[in-house]
This record gives sequence, structure tokens and C-alpha cells, in this order.
Amino acid sequence: MESYIRYIAVAFVATIIGIFIYNIWDIENTAPSKSYSEFITEVNAGHIKKAHIKGGEIEGLDRFDQPFTTYSPDIENLMPKLIEKNVLITTEKISASGLKDFIKNLLPMLFILGGWYIFLKTKGEKGKFKKSKEIIQKNIRQITFDDVAGIPEAKEELLEIVDFLKNPTKYTGLGGRIPKGVLLQGAPGTGKTLLAKAIAGEAGTPFYSISGSDFVEMYVGVGASRVRELFTEAKKNAPCIIFIDEIDAVGRQRGAGDAAGGQDEREQTLNALLVEMDGFQSDVTVIIVAATNRPDILDPALLRAGRFDRLITVPLPDVKGRLEILKVHSKNVVLSKTIELDDIARITSGFSGAELANLVNEAALMAARKGKSHIEMSDFDVAKDKITMGIERKSVVITEKERKTTAYHEAGHTIVARLLPETDPVHKISIIPRGMALGITQQLPIDDRHTYSKQYLINRIKILLGGKVAEEIGLNQETTGAVNDLNSATDITIKMVCEWGMSEKLGPVAYFTENQSFLGASALKTKSLSEATAKKIDDEVKSLILKCYYETKQLLTKHIKLLHRMAEILLVQETMEAEDIDIVFNCYYSKLETENKEIDVEIKQSKEELK
Ligand code: ADP
Ligand code: ZN
Repeated sequence: MESYIRYIAVAFVATIIGIFIYNIWDIENTAPSKSYSEFITEVNAGHIKKAHIKGGEIEGLDRFDQPFTTYSPDIENLMPKLIEKNVLITTEKISASGLKDFIKNLLPMLFILGGWYIFLKTKGEKGKFKKSKEIIQKNIRQITFDDVAGIPEAKEELLEIVDFLKNPTKYTGLGGRIPKGVLLQGAPGTGKTLLAKAIAGEAGTPFYSISGSDFVEMYVGVGASRVRELFTEAKKNAPCIIFIDEIDAVGRQRGAGDAAGGQDEREQTLNALLVEMDGFQSDVTVIIVAATNRPDILDPALLRAGRFDRLITVPLPDVKGRLEILKVHSKNVVLSKTIELDDIARITSGFSGAELANLVNEAALMAARKGKSHIEMSDFDVAKDKITMGIERKSVVITEKERKTTAYHEAGHTIVARLLPETDPVHKISIIPRGMALGITQQLPIDDRHTYSKQYLINRIKILLGGKVAEEIGLNQETTGAVNDLNSATDITIKMVCEWGMSEKLGPVAYFTENQSFLGASALKTKSLSEATAKKIDDEVKSLILKCYYETKQLLTKHIKLLHRMAEILLVQETMEAEDIDIVFNCYYSKLETENKEIDVEIKQSKEELK
């Protein structure tokens, strides 16, 4: 950015100097002018030696050999007089003089254009020295996957890319197509750039990087030509990696509103990128890794097959991940023996990798400022406060209480889903905040369903209510965190009653069809339903949901031990995969069994005693 300003300054100064030199030249080459009457007087007096006439303009020498200029409105009548007075006359065609004028007028223009050209050139358009510094950087230190911690899934997926780069022929030999583009999506600071560098480092290939935001302030055509240049350079050095950071800055959906000027440039750059991506042959192994935290706003053209068709999510690290990242970054600092990185990982929920790196650094600075020989826990505490409070954080900072609520909430969804039949298996639960959601329970449908059984729908409603119910019975509290769940549950119930004819009271009647959203009884009224029917529908929806609610409450109350246990584990672990959930359930059931056996034994004993 700074260099930018420098170039503008250079261009500006060059232009000024150009204009300055031109003016001096012009002044030196222009004789002082005489008035026409003065000129006529001197002609009459025989004081003019030479006159050079072009059009009406006259350049001449007077009796002191001083050059002068003047303008005659009436050359025809002047000529005889000049001849009479023996003035040496030369003439020139007007067109020729016009050319000179033209050049004279053009000169400042040329200087300005020249200055501009120099500006563009030095800006890195073609200047060789720029390339290696800012726009294209090759790896200085080889970064490897060891430097990337806490995001094992993303790493795993990228290992394949490393293999492509190392042995391209292994894949192409079988006729396979090597992927061209990989899109890394994730919050800022989660390690996307680091991952891209690590791919290059692992494969030992050059790494070219460029940022989408670089293009935003460029002039039309520059971005596109820079893209072409980058690809040409990369192709020469294949196999290699091109990393495009913040691709959303160029790759935003075309036509999505922004200032008209930037739009053109962005579209040209994006088109150049697409052309380049489509252009290279399959025998050139150039893999383009792009990063964004807004995959939703990308132009669909970018995601088409053969372009960025691999989408890899780089999540915020969970507690285990944070521990790993802390380990990587505290390698080079001196920690007090009393410090448990585990504890730090636990109190930094929602931190990104970059924030954790920053945390270690701040703590080290804090300790150094106090003249300590090693970093203590108190330094981490201060550093954490500084990071969480100092900067306005984009991600949510959650309190311990909120975490606990979320843990019970998500555990509730999961347990209900696990205990009821005909439900989608729970794939993963997490209490790591993500966007607006504080936690998430992911259920993967076993197959793509198009029709749903009534049982499935009822259980779906119960699962949705499970979050709220778990908060109520586990923590004895009610929060607003279940809004979305309640909306979805109500939605399903309304459809069951009004669309799918699944209510016994109202019968198999479709009260409204798809795409008409339900806005309560008042909306139904306008749909020419009688008030009585509308009320019936309202009542039926309510009673169905209430029934589900009570049954869910019963279910979770019966298994409250499991709820507490699951929430506890979530609080510590933050995420649970399907296998983790299996283990918890199995433990719970085997305990139940032994408990039941003990109860049986007790009953037997008391029975025997009675005898
Ligand atoms: P992004 O590109 O996703 O915004 P970066 O890759 O630029 O994030 O991360 C910035 C810095 O944060 C890295 O240079 C590294 O020091 C640290 N960092 C981020 N994620 C990780 C991680 N998973 N493991 C280790 N360090 C990380
Ligand atoms: Zn929920």
C-alpha cells in the first residue's frame, strides 16, 4: 500500500517536471511578440530585416537582429509592402506549422502519459523487481503440515493434493484429472493461508500468492493482466501452487451491487481468472488454492466443475485443537513449569488459530515487560483479556454460563434423536460458536428422502424441542436460544395439520398448499376459511406440539443422568463425533443394566427376607 503512494508520487513529480521542461523550451523558442501596428511602423521605417510567414503568423528579425513575432490579419496587402521595403521573406505552408503546433500541444500530454506508464510499470505490471517482493512470494521458510495444528480433517483432505503435486504422473497415467482448484472456507485466522503454504512446503514446489483485495483498487485491465502474468509465471514453474487469498473480493457474484468503477475491473479480473483456469492443459500441474470466509457470495461460475470444485471447510478449533495450536506456538517461548496448556485451551473457546498465536505472543511480551524469566499463567490471563476485550471481536465471546446452556441444549437434541426410532443419525455435536449459532447438532439423513412418515415427523418435532426441554430440566432455566427450533417445530406441525392431512381431528384435508406460508389464524381467515376452522387448526397445532413437548420432557427426565453426563462431556470436549456419542450411550446402558441387576438382587433379597 505504501509503495502505491510512492508510485503515484513518482508519476506526479515526473509529470510536473515534464510540464516544467516543456514550458522552458517553449519560452526559449518563442520570440517576444510585437503589436501589429508597431510592426507596420517598423516595416515602413525599413527596420525589419527578415519575415517568415506562415498563415497569418509572422516571425521575423528587426534591425537589431532581435527575433519577434506578430500576427497579420491581412497578409495579402502586407506582402507588397514587405517586398517594397526589401524584407527577406520566407514562407511556410500552414499545414506544416499546424503539425508543429500539434506536437507542441501534444507534448505535455506525452509527458503525462509517460509518467503514467512509468507508474504502471513500476507498480509491478511488468517490473521484475516488484514481483519477487510483494505480489508473488516464494516460500522463504518451508512451512509444513507440522506447523498447522488442530484442524486434522482439513489437513487430511489436503494431503491428497500434496501427493498430486509430488507425483502428477501417477494420477494422469490412469487418465484421472488432477483437481485444479481447492477452495478453503473458514473464519479469518483459522489457518487457510498457512495450509496453502504447507501444501507447497510439503510438496517442495514454488508458492505464488496474490490477494483478491489487491485488485480492488486497481485500474481497469491491470488486474486481468496481472492474473495472466501470474499464471504464465506459474506454468513455467509447474508443479506449483497459486494461492488466492480473499477470493470473494474478485469472485463476488457478477452483478451484485458495488460501485460501477470497481465492478468493471473486478469482472475483468474474474473473467481472466476463469479463462486461465480453464486454459491450462492437464499435463501442467498448477493447483490453485483460494481462501474465503464468504463462500455464499461467490460467483457460481467459480465453483463449477474443473474450477474450484473442491470445497474444504477450515473450522474454528475445538478444545483439543486449541491445545495442539498452543503447543505449536509455545515451542519457542519459555513457559513456567506450572502452566498447563490444557487450562489455556479450555478458557479460549471461540479463539481462532491466529488469535491463539497472538495470545502466546502477548503473554510473552507481558512477561518480558515485567522482567520475568518465564511466562506465567497470570500473563496469559492478562493477554486473554486484552485480546477478547481490546479489539472488537467479530466472533462471539461466550460466557461460561452460555457454554453450559448450549451444552445442555445440544445434548438434549442428541439424546432425543438417539433414543427415538426413525430418526436421522446424529453425526456430530459441537458447542463451538459458529456465526450466530452457539452450538450445533448435525444430523445426516441416511438417504435422500422425499416422503416422510408421520412417525418421523413427530420425532423430528421432539428432537427440535429436546434442546429447550433439556435446558429446562437440566438447568432449570428457560432462554431465548431455542427460537429457531421452535419455529421449525411449529412449521412442521402446521404442515402436518394443514397440508399433509395428518391430524385426526381435521382429517385428510389440505387447507393450503405448498409455498403459502402460514401466518396464523388471521391469514387463514383471508384464505376464506371460516373462523371456526381457523381456530380448530390453531388448536390442533398447539395440542400436537404440546403433546410432543410433554413426551419429550418425560423421555429426557427418565434419562436425566445421561443428559448431565453428555453435557459434562461436551463442556470439556466441545465437539463429539458419532463414535464418542456411541461410547457415552454404551457406558450409560451398561451402567443401567448393572443398576437394574442390583435392584433385582435387592428385590429378591427382600422377598426372601419376607419369606
Ligand atoms: P487465514 O488465512 O485463515 O486468515 P492464517 O493462515 O493467515 O489465517 O493464520 C494466521 C496465523 O495464525 C498463522 O500464520 C499462524 O501463526 C496462526 N495459525 C492460524 N491457524 C493455525 C493453526 N491451525 N495451527 C497453527 N497456527 C495457526
Ligand atoms: Zn437447538
